[in-house]
Amino acid sequence: MRLQKYIANCGVASRRKSETLIQQGLVTVNDKVVTEMGFKLDVVEDHVKVRGKLIKPTEEMIYILLNKPTGFVTTVSDQFDRKTVTDLVGVSERIFPVGRLDYHTSGFLLLTNDGNLTFKLTHPKFKVSKVYIAKVKGKPSSSKLSLFEKGLEIEDYVTAPAKISIIKILPHEVIVKITLREGKNRQVRKMCDAIGHPVVELNRESMGDLQLGDLEIGKWRHLTQKEITYLK
Ligand code: URA
Repeated sequence: MRLQKYIANCGVASRRKSETLIQQGLVTVNDKVVTEMGFKLDVVEDHVKVRGKLIKPTEEMIYILLNKPTGFVTTVSDQFDRKTVTDLVGVSERIFPVGRLDYHTSGFLLLTNDGNLTFKLTHPKFKVSKVYIAKVKGKPSSSKLSLFEKGLEIEDYVTAPAKISIIKILPHEVIVKITLREGKNRQVRKMCDAIGHPVVELNRESMGDLQLGDLEIGKWRHLTQKEITYLK
């Protein structure tokens, strides 16, 4: 098994974060530092340490859905001591968030100790759809809205085709529904900025077939077996 996959299986971090740990020289195999990506491991014979601590595959995988409130950082610990999403979830297992919601974004967030699932749900090649409800300033014209489908130039990339539709018109803002199949940093906010209608509020409703449903803001629940099977 590849070293980064093994580290993810041990519930230490997501597959991508595991790669960073390897690159940073924080991983040893049989007490020798390995920085080679894709290093093949004998899972029975070899012993792996991360920051000097022996790691073992996690026996029990847990999958949690949180309705994230605004005002929480999507990390396990924050360098500025702000409240994090893991503060909201009362489980003894070490879990980490699947992807990211900004500090000011609320809604659908998965947390797990299954690093390989994180890889699958956040990697662009799997194209998992994510639905957002945003309140934006002003009322975008239909030609502005069509730019979401065509692709928008943002910094150094062009966005993949996305969907947007107006679901409610308010005096100075509108509520839109946006569906993306990629998840670049602050992508919804940047796309709305790019058409001249900045986001005022942002909430994620769903990921793939999984929905927040009636889960209250700030509350969490374990995924059902059916939901877990769908994800895998
Ligand atoms: N897009 C954003 O701009 N922010 C999020 O939190 C998620 C998607």
